[in-house]
Amino acid sequence: MIVIGGGLAGLSAGVALAESGWRVRLFEQRPFLGGRATSYVLPDGEHVDNCQHVTLGCCTNLEDFYRRIGSAGKIKFFDRLLFQDPQGRTGVMQAGFLPAPFHMTGSFATFAPLTFADKRSIARAMLDILRGKGHTADLDEPNSISMLEWLNRRRQTPAAIERFWRVVLVSALDEELDRTDARFGVDVFWKAFLSSRSGYVVGIPRVPLGELYEGCRAAIEQRGGEVVCRAAVRNLIQDDGRIAGVSMDGGRQHCADFYILAVPHEAAIKLLPERIADAEPQLRQIRNLEVSPITSVHFWFDRDVMAEPFVTLLDRTTQWIFNKSRLTEQPGDGRYLQSVISASYGLVERSRQEIIKLCLGELHEVLPEAREARLVKATVVKETAATFSPEPGADRWRPPQRTPVPNLFLAGDWTLTGWPATMEGAVRSGYLAAEAILLECGEPKRLLKPDLPPEGLARW
Ligand SMILES: Cc1cc2nc3c(=O)[nH]c(=O)nc-3n(C[C@H](O)[C@H](O)[C@H](O)COP(=O)(O)OP(=O)(O)OC[C@H]3O[C@@H](n4cnc5c(N)ncnc54)[C@H](O)[C@@H]3O)c2cc1C
Repeated sequence: MIVIGGGLAGLSAGVALAESGWRVRLFEQRPFLGGRATSYVLPDGEHVDNCQHVTLGCCTNLEDFYRRIGSAGKIKFFDRLLFQDPQGRTGVMQAGFLPAPFHMTGSFATFAPLTFADKRSIARAMLDILRGKGHTADLDEPNSISMLEWLNRRRQTPAAIERFWRVVLVSALDEELDRTDARFGVDVFWKAFLSSRSGYVVGIPRVPLGELYEGCRAAIEQRGGEVVCRAAVRNLIQDDGRIAGVSMDGGRQHCADFYILAVPHEAAIKLLPERIADAEPQLRQIRNLEVSPITSVHFWFDRDVMAEPFVTLLDRTTQWIFNKSRLTEQPGDGRYLQSVISASYGLVERSRQEIIKLCLGELHEVLPEAREARLVKATVVKETAATFSPEPGADRWRPPQRTPVPNLFLAGDWTLTGWPATMEGAVRSGYLAAEAILLECGEPKRLLKPDLPPEGLARW
């Protein structure tokens, strides 16, 4: 078995197949594993994540994967979400004593950044999601509607859209509401906030992201396989309608019975043999997927400037501030902070200095201690193609994991998983690709974990 790509999709497929008795050879072009969800070391020895990654309680397959590779204990879960608006008003979202779907009612009722009229409109829309168990009739319209259209049809107030729906969904889906398929948006609220009490809890790694994958190499290599980094696959060799091997730099070739292509979709388009890609509409359409950007800004101060583990900002460019020193349990609580901006289209063309100035200004407004502190250094990471864009109808361009080529399978957050581009989506794709191969070999096995079951009154 050859797996191409050492991101979460390739790793989850590789580990699951190794555990099912297959000899897996995984090729990753970079020196480290984890793909987009990884970390690296700066020249001065500082470990930085490519960008802060968070998981949610409803990400059942990612949780299963972390458990398989011995990393479950490296994730810390938080059940209290803090929001702050420019007027200094704060709001907390936290489950109270009521059963699902009413567990957030108490914190919602006292959420200061929203007025009574905003809350009433939100409650109406939530009731709609609840009645349909995460689905509303207009999601089935032949021309998929955007999340903004869905909200407008439910007469949401401008503040409800800006300070509630947009805040949650732009971070979760990395896209603006008018460019997001309503199906994804509604699903987020059903799975994370309504169907169970624990779906919304935020999981954040205590270690740099790259350290989460240490168990993958062992899981694959202890079963006779190998994980090879700095190994870029340059070509898929095609013979008689099947994949006959892969070629690497220097002309080396490797072959296997099955191949999983687990690279980002732009890389997959380049690697798929032209004759196959052009002949198969399912593969040809991948190129219609659009991408959206995420920008993160890393700040190091000479002293502690933040006590909370993280905060969500309303009505600002910065969407989240993460207290990296505290989250990764480094000495000097609140010295290393990371600001994150999803769907950061407005920042793509701006210089790094401009972005630092803008985000530092916002940080000073929110954290008075930061005004007194000296900024030791700052860096900006712009990911212009962070995720595929979940635009209305995007699912029709996403291929399933099984391809028309009998021994070639696809994995990646962009393949058809029912989920948006997330770590959970990537792991689901890896498990689905592994399941498809096991089925093909007459060894069917269920790897995919079910969603959290609806709890309490949400069951009815
Ligand atoms: C800035 C940013 C922030 C994010 N925040 C979150 C978050 O908070 N929560 C969340 O759930 N998701 C988040 N995501 C999304 C998440 O990172 C991705 O959905 C997920 O990691 C994708 O995994 P993947 O395996 O599908 O792809 P990738 O991680 O892209 O892995 C593909 C791998 O293939 C390798 N590769 C490519 N070409 C070749 C080749 N020719 N030969 C060998 N190897 C090759 C690449 O080097 C890479 O390692 C974020 C993404 C970004 C960019």
